[in-house]
Amino acid sequence: MTDGCVFCRIAARATPADIEYEDEAVLAFKDIYPKAPVHLLIIPKRHIGSIAQLEPGDAELVGRCVLVARALGERTGYAERGYRLACNCGPEGGQVVYHLHFHFTAGRR
Ligand code: AMP
Ligand code: ZN
Repeated sequence: MTDGCVFCRIAARATPADIEYEDEAVLAFKDIYPKAPVHLLIIPKRHIGSIAQLEPGDAELVGRCVLVARALGERTGYAERGYRLACNCGPEGGQVVYHLHFHFTAGRR
């Protein structure tokens, strides 16, 4: 766990979150300030600051995060209607929490 990282704390169960999915490498939980009827955050459990810190060896982990989005699409009933997967990177990309995460949003046209 990286000190002071809120998403590391959630992954370590040191901070509460409404967890929707978990496996050994990836976690998905509800965003506390939802911007759509369904708003989940998908994170790798291992701390990676942002897309800018990704290394070639992280490719499988990122792919797993995207596959979790697919599973969440099915689980939430939005697989057919569709959803959005977004990742903010850096200050001008709107990133606020510096632990890599993908926003899964659905239900807002
Ligand atoms: P970003 O701007 O991409 O860094 O988005 C960070 C997101 O994390 C925002 O949508 C916040 O609402 C969300 N967030 C921050 N702290 C928490 C928390 N403790 N539990 C759940 N979501 C959080
Ligand atoms: Zn972290």
